[in-house]
Amino acid sequence: MSVNGLLLNSFFSTGAYVHPSPIPQATLFAFHLPEKDNIVVGIICCFYHMEKEMEFEPKWIAWEITRRCNLKCVHCRSSSELDIAGHPDFSFDEAKRIIDDIVSYASPVMVLSGGEPLLRADVFDIAKYGGSKGLRMCLATNGTLVTPEICVKIKDADIKMVSLSLDGAKAETHDNFRNQEGAFDGTMNAIKLFNEHGIPFLINSSFTVRNREEIPDIYRLVKKLGATAWYMFMIVPTGRGEDIMEELIPEKVYDEILEWHYETEKNEDELLMRPTCAPHYYRIVRQKAKEENSSFKRRNLKFSTGGSKGCLAGQLICLIDVDENILPCSYFPKAAGNLKEQSFKEVWEDSSLFHEMRDFKGYKDNCGSCEYVNVCGGCRARAYAMTGDYLAQEPFCSYVPKSIQAKKDK
Ligand code: SF4
Ligand code: SF4
Repeated sequence: MSVNGLLLNSFFSTGAYVHPSPIPQATLFAFHLPEKDNIVVGIICCFYHMEKEMEFEPKWIAWEITRRCNLKCVHCRSSSELDIAGHPDFSFDEAKRIIDDIVSYASPVMVLSGGEPLLRADVFDIAKYGGSKGLRMCLATNGTLVTPEICVKIKDADIKMVSLSLDGAKAETHDNFRNQEGAFDGTMNAIKLFNEHGIPFLINSSFTVRNREEIPDIYRLVKKLGATAWYMFMIVPTGRGEDIMEELIPEKVYDEILEWHYETEKNEDELLMRPTCAPHYYRIVRQKAKEENSSFKRRNLKFSTGGSKGCLAGQLICLIDVDENILPCSYFPKAAGNLKEQSFKEVWEDSSLFHEMRDFKGYKDNCGSCEYVNVCGGCRARAYAMTGDYLAQEPFCSYVPKSIQAKKDK
């Protein structure tokens, strides 16, 4: 299997996440992980050699190994809490069965997520088992449970990358977003420990109108902290995020933020950066580069939900939840199948939901008529959350496709 025709300008074979694809042009990954919220995958790519055809291979899987969490973030997609009734952790034997099933079919990056994965006593046993089967194992944590001993275990388990969340440039903002006093200090402590132990990490930042003014400050702070990458994420209203609908960033401001990101990314040569689950960034980059008559080549991300295309849900990425449901991504609350009843291969190849999501011609309204649909696609989870139809147009994109504009102009 391969991502056909992703004629990527750059290919870096030294990254921890470089996929052993026989096709040298293709590949991969960055992640923006949900630490129960943010998922990010990254894909090494270059915009100007992007493709028409796409084959659908599971390149990156977020795996909710527990729904328990020691925080109660305002935007949590899985509404995690410390005591979760009805969604018990699966056993280590079940974890091994899931890994065996996946490796019989694919070789994705696996991100151990949650909930808070460090609440599971066997998290590093799972990581080691996956690693022993050739998977590149990563970890998404809120950072508050990281200690020097945990860092030694992370190294020992050969975890390739850890993602942390930082939603404010100061404690007050982050703690407010995370619903927990001391969460900011916990994240800073984890970062200090990761730096001391030589553990690569990336930072995910989630935004609503509540903290969006701090975007530039968080970017500057992340640069100072020694992160490999920074992923900016606009909340998708699922899980606890449904309670903050009125805090979602309006589409015009959303575009302004993405334009800020474009200008910043263009001039950034150290920190890898990508907006996550902002598919229309791919449209904005193309529009801006055309306006400027420039050939802005985005640097490869070793780890993001950006990549070869804006939305990759059910196309290159998916989520396995604690009940073994396979969902298109962390924010898409509809299962394509379940690993207790089907193999991963059966779900990936035969699910009608995945087939629909891969058929871009079936998208509706503006997205269905859009000349950027193959590189953007709109956020299917946002469409689902806001309209009940996951094939509907992306609710937070202000773009009017040329064909629709032409009809209006007549
Ligand atoms: S559906 Fe939305 S949240 Fe999910 S991967 Fe696509 S852009 Fe991201
Ligand atoms: S209309 Fe849809 S496909 Fe086109 S740029 Fe907007 S979100 Fe992307």
